[in-house]
Amino acid sequence: MSMTVPDSSEVAKEKKNTYQREYRKNNPEKFRVLDKKNREKHEEKIEEKDRNYYKKNKKRLIEYQMKKRSVDPETNKIRQSTYKKFNDKKKGVCSKCGDEGRTDFHHTSYKPNKFVELCKSCHKLYHVNEKRREQRREQNGK
Ligand SMILES: [Zn+2]
Repeated sequence: MSMTVPDSSEVAKEKKNTYQREYRKNNPEKFRVLDKKNREKHEEKIEEKDRNYYKKNKKRLIEYQMKKRSVDPETNKIRQSTYKKFNDKKKGVCSKCGDEGRTDFHHTSYKPNKFVELCKSCHKLYHVNEKRREQRREQNGK
């Protein structure tokens, strides 16, 4: 009968990693500040790295996005038909700031009629705020 005894240095390494993961999980606020500081410090470097990463993996990243988008065919179908149906109903006026020009329909859900007409900047702002709300929810809910 043979037994595989893990190498003690491997065990120690794994123990350390687990500890670090747990510590990070239990101190999210601390690491959030640290990450932010770190990011600010190396912002240019990180941005360049991100850019390079994107350039290198552009095809793969786009494919991934497309795959993610088409993951639920039913949602896709509804999205497409809703888009078609309402696209020519655009007034060209942002329902939030009243700006005239190019507008998007922002769907609050994929049920028909659940949408608002927004200009590009309001639409963008909506998603930025949505991301913030999500982050806040995650922090509160943890
Ligand atoms: Zn607007």
